[in-house]
Amino acid sequence: MKSFIDILIPSLVKYLDRDLVGNSKKVLQLINSLGLYKFHKGALDSIYEQLEDPTNPYYKFIKSMKQELTPNVRRKFIGSFLLKAGLLTKGKRIKLKEKLQQQIPWAVLMDPTSACNLECIGCWAKDYDKTDSLSFELMDRIIREGKPMGTFTYIYSGGEPLIRKRDIIRLCEKHPECYFLAFTNGTLIDEKFAKEVARVGNFAPGISIEGFEEMTDFRRGKGTYQKVIRAMDILKSHGILYGFSATYHRRNTDVIASEEFLDLMEEKGCHYGWYFTYMPVGSDAQPDLIVTPEQRAFMFHRIREARKQRPMFLMDFWNDGEFVGGCIAGGKKYLHINAKGDVEPCAFIHYSNVNIKDMSLKQALRQPIFEEYRKNQPFNHNHLRPCPCLDNPEKLRNMVNASKAKSTQLNDLESVEDFTAKCENHARGWAPVADALQYGNGNTEEIKVNNNGKMVDAKSNGNGKPADAKDNDIFIKAEGTI
Ligand code: SF4
Repeated sequence: MKSFIDILIPSLVKYLDRDLVGNSKKVLQLINSLGLYKFHKGALDSIYEQLEDPTNPYYKFIKSMKQELTPNVRRKFIGSFLLKAGLLTKGKRIKLKEKLQQQIPWAVLMDPTSACNLECIGCWAKDYDKTDSLSFELMDRIIREGKPMGTFTYIYSGGEPLIRKRDIIRLCEKHPECYFLAFTNGTLIDEKFAKEVARVGNFAPGISIEGFEEMTDFRRGKGTYQKVIRAMDILKSHGILYGFSATYHRRNTDVIASEEFLDLMEEKGCHYGWYFTYMPVGSDAQPDLIVTPEQRAFMFHRIREARKQRPMFLMDFWNDGEFVGGCIAGGKKYLHINAKGDVEPCAFIHYSNVNIKDMSLKQALRQPIFEEYRKNQPFNHNHLRPCPCLDNPEKLRNMVNASKAKSTQLNDLESVEDFTAKCENHARGWAPVADALQYGNGNTEEIKVNNNGKMVDAKSNGNGKPADAKDNDIFIKAEGTI
């Protein structure tokens, strides 16, 4: 039997699709009268504000959907993503979480395959065995088990998920009330696939890009940039909702945060942009690509500025912790299932106690390392330091050891001590900067930190460096005071 919400959604979609801006307020009032407002208070208050202001970029973003997206893509986004996966099921997840005393995620991230058609520098997937994969039947089972818990968002990563594009379309068809996203290198997107995506409507790919041609081809291989741009053009011509994903590291931060790069992404028709910071996962990782605290603070400011100007939904996976209560992993809002079936807390944290092939999704959510996450989240009172690895490496070490989780790093079974050791310097350097950004009194003041993360006095000599400064010490500048 259909639930009240499932009966309601088609009428709401029709009503909203007629005039998304004009009719949104009435739908929000209805959500309020259903007692669901309390679950989304912060987000809905800000949507109300944006709908009042035609100069607001999100107002323009919502308006543009009518012209830019095909009707089926637009209606699936409203019905499956905004209403079903977001506004109307959060209450169900919260109640179930309380009843079962375990995490119930908003999204499941899974890797259909470990294989990839590219060999990107610094990507842990490039050395994976190319034969691991989740069968269509297993992915279908995970989704069927997620839906009764209120989980309607499924995201693919890899390997290159579009190696399995036929199965991805089949899952979209089989579960039209769910919404699917993917982190893809974009090189396998063609006209035929775009037509299929427009037909099913509930798939919104995020294409990885490293900046302009030189930087993208440096990390992803010659010719990749042109293929990415072509993929975006194809998706745009078919009225599909899509975005970009960009990893900022020590050598490309200024480029991918630049006005020119965001102009290009806007011109190419991206509706969202997801920024990640480089994580040194695996023994072949390059820790010297981790951003400096100065670069991370720069991104903090840049993405917030860009959000005020651009009709695109921009997110920074680490610096936006304050909007989601810190770390979202371990099933709190999401989890990751690799191509072997290991159920991991996060795409970047490759430790697990269980495999999805041996148990249900609900059982997997009760595994010891997830319980450790649940007990310890948030990992820091400052949500600008959310990560148990990059920002609080001792927390990840403690949780992995306490839960006896095993390494699931597919190529080299990296120990948690080796992994976290690569993040210590960054964590120490970022801590005072993040604290200044979060708790500062609004004054702009230079904060000097050496590369061991130790605060030093800015006025200790004439050039602003302390007398004992070493050549390779990093000095950062941040807003606010501690
Ligand atoms: S473990 Fe780190 S990278 Fe993963 S969700 Fe938590 S904060 Fe983000």
